[in-house]
Amino acid sequence: PATDPPASSNAIDTPATATWRVALPVPLPRLFDYLPPPGDADADPVGCRVRVPFGRSGEKIGVVVATDQPDSDAELKTVAARLDAEPLLHGELLASLRWLARYTHAPLGEVLATALPGPLRHGEPLPDTHAWAWRLSEAGATALPGLRAGKPKQLAERLAAGAVDEDALDATLGGWRAAARSLAKRGLAERVAIKKEKMGSESFLPERKNDSDPIFSLNPEQQAAVDAVLAARDGFAPFLLDGVTGSGKTEVYLHAIADCLARGKQALVLVPEIGLTPQTLARFRARLGVQVHALHSGLSDGERARVWAAAVRGEARVVVGTRSAVFLPLPEPGLIVIDEEHDGSFKQLDGIRYHARDFALVRGKALGVPVLLGSATPSLESLQNAHTGRYAHLRLRQRAGNAKPPQVRVIDVRKRPLEAGLSPEMLAAIERALASGGQVLVFKNRRGYAPVLLCHDCGWSAHCPRCGTPEHPTPMTVHGGGRRLQCHHCGARQRVPDACPDCGSLALQPQGAGTERIEDALKVRFPDTRVLRIDRGSTQRRDAMEKLLAEFGSEPGILVGTQMLAKGHDLAGLTLVAVVGIDEGLFSADFRAPEKLAQLLIQVAGRAGRADRPGEVLLQTHHPEHPLLATLLSGGYQAFADTELPQREAARFPPFAHMAMLRAEARRVDAVEAFLRAARDTLADTRTDALELHGPLPAPMPRRAGYQRMQLLLSAPDRRSLHAALDAALPTIHALPEARKVRWSLDVDPVDL
Ligand code: ADP
Ligand code: ZN
Ligand code: ZN
Repeated sequence: PATDPPASSNAIDTPATATWRVALPVPLPRLFDYLPPPGDADADPVGCRVRVPFGRSGEKIGVVVATDQPDSDAELKTVAARLDAEPLLHGELLASLRWLARYTHAPLGEVLATALPGPLRHGEPLPDTHAWAWRLSEAGATALPGLRAGKPKQLAERLAAGAVDEDALDATLGGWRAAARSLAKRGLAERVAIKKEKMGSESFLPERKNDSDPIFSLNPEQQAAVDAVLAARDGFAPFLLDGVTGSGKTEVYLHAIADCLARGKQALVLVPEIGLTPQTLARFRARLGVQVHALHSGLSDGERARVWAAAVRGEARVVVGTRSAVFLPLPEPGLIVIDEEHDGSFKQLDGIRYHARDFALVRGKALGVPVLLGSATPSLESLQNAHTGRYAHLRLRQRAGNAKPPQVRVIDVRKRPLEAGLSPEMLAAIERALASGGQVLVFKNRRGYAPVLLCHDCGWSAHCPRCGTPEHPTPMTVHGGGRRLQCHHCGARQRVPDACPDCGSLALQPQGAGTERIEDALKVRFPDTRVLRIDRGSTQRRDAMEKLLAEFGSEPGILVGTQMLAKGHDLAGLTLVAVVGIDEGLFSADFRAPEKLAQLLIQVAGRAGRADRPGEVLLQTHHPEHPLLATLLSGGYQAFADTELPQREAARFPPFAHMAMLRAEARRVDAVEAFLRAARDTLADTRTDALELHGPLPAPMPRRAGYQRMQLLLSAPDRRSLHAALDAALPTIHALPEARKVRWSLDVDPVDL
């Protein structure tokens, strides 16, 4: 009967079954409560993935981020399935990702989905990370002497002394798989999983592997850098390793990582997309003497998930990865390194717009480990942090070993005749370098044949029909030796018209030179010399560039390329770097353009003379007196930074201000403007002190692929005001009726303004 008292007072105190609060990958700034699946009330579900009913008839995969008491009157659906027995995202990683969701003002569910590799995001189980080996069965050992000669017998003999792992068989016994199948069918051999043992500490110390990669003693600056990192290894400590190209920064990383391994800890190394070459991995492997896990965009989804699993199980001791590797779980953390910390590829430009360097610092702090940022051209943000003492500033001022710094010379090309953009002085220098047996790198940051197609009779030029506006038309790039037009913003392609669409003239001329045209001209000029072009057009696949460069070797020859060549693969035979056509970058409206140009120039110049031969750098420009060039040439990157930082401060730009960009696009420009105006009013209503709102203004590309694009820039002298305004305004902005007519996004710390 309903009036009966409870059987025991205990029952009153026992809470009703807790609900599970789930973060789902949906663009809504909220979490979702579910009832636990039947019979699963005890084990803590936080950090585990679940499959839940969502919407009318759908299901979604999410992560339980909390448990809570149910709202008495809420009608809750029940979790369809718990997918993990052990939490996948928990502890420090979950806490750091929560921080990232708050910082980017993005839904936690979308942040967690971004952090997980595809298969895990889609609910697949944590993959196997076992290595496999083969061994003889007892029957196999007995039968061995009587086996007929052949592959199976060869394999059986290999296995007679004990199990051999598949990697080793791959390397030493061609065709072993068929042989293994044949033995297995007869019950003579079997496949066994081997758990990767964590190796004892000594085996992690760098050891000399071969003569081509000698161990030398660190120079005093390198030693001081290593000592500083080791002295701080027991807690969070940020370092800026500021060392000229070729000064041996990688050696400093390797020593710090070796120490980390020796203490039984994991090291995470983030590198730019272009820097993760097989060369780099081989150097790490050879020097550290352990397996090095790589994580980059060239891996399949399954491989990415395996690296993730190896990291969460603590099997991966050293991971070298690109941007998204910053999301790897590190149960036994020891060190985080960010090489080329200034590199633009660390910033994600869509979806969750995080910066891997900045998030690595957040994680380093939460994990209590040193974070080592290295660069020859540090970002002004990091330099400023070093100047204020937030980061310890470690410097390597000299090139390591015998390498000499390159000599940089400017060639004034005003009024000079140009051949495919190259001046006579430049061509003569190339000829000299080749004659003395050197390699030449011709750097031009523009791919394609020519950047513009112009009608010589009426002035018409080819523009993308889907991009740009009448005031700001977007030229199409000429490709295919002058036969095709392509838009580098939306990918649109066309054939070059036979005659000018405006006046009918046949005098259509490609203007200016991209890498293709330079390649053509150099092949004509130096018919007996190898000319290799490296850009996104010539190397679609990530390993293609490596293969081309390996074939190129170190014999005399010319490389023509875009910034893909500015870093990555070491080119030992390079003696001349010819820089052409950087003038566009001198007059860009983006306040970061001088910084990016300075970094690019220093990095490209740094490619010359890395070995024993001195290098020469020639810079061809129409603006030899430009202050940026003058400063860089006389005082290097440091002089540039010393003049640029005060200018940033005076103009109240980062790192002396904090910014966020609200971007919107739609087919109709009035819808875009209406949304951004309403958003601006909402932000202004928060009456946040010192918040400045600029816009709505047209985006730098005001129309792309048929979409009209505008932006509203938020700026504040301190982070706190910026985030307070966003926290207060975003719920209203999400709900604006104008928001339904546009695609919009928020970018905190935008890099492209
Ligand atoms: P960075 O990363 O600063 O560009 P690396 O670590 O790649 O520089 O070193 C540049 C070159 O100098 C490499 O070939 C490296 O083997 C060599 N090197 C580094 N440190 C030393 C040293 N202390 N003595 C001699 N050679 C060194
Ligand atoms: Zn014309
Ligand atoms: Zn276009």
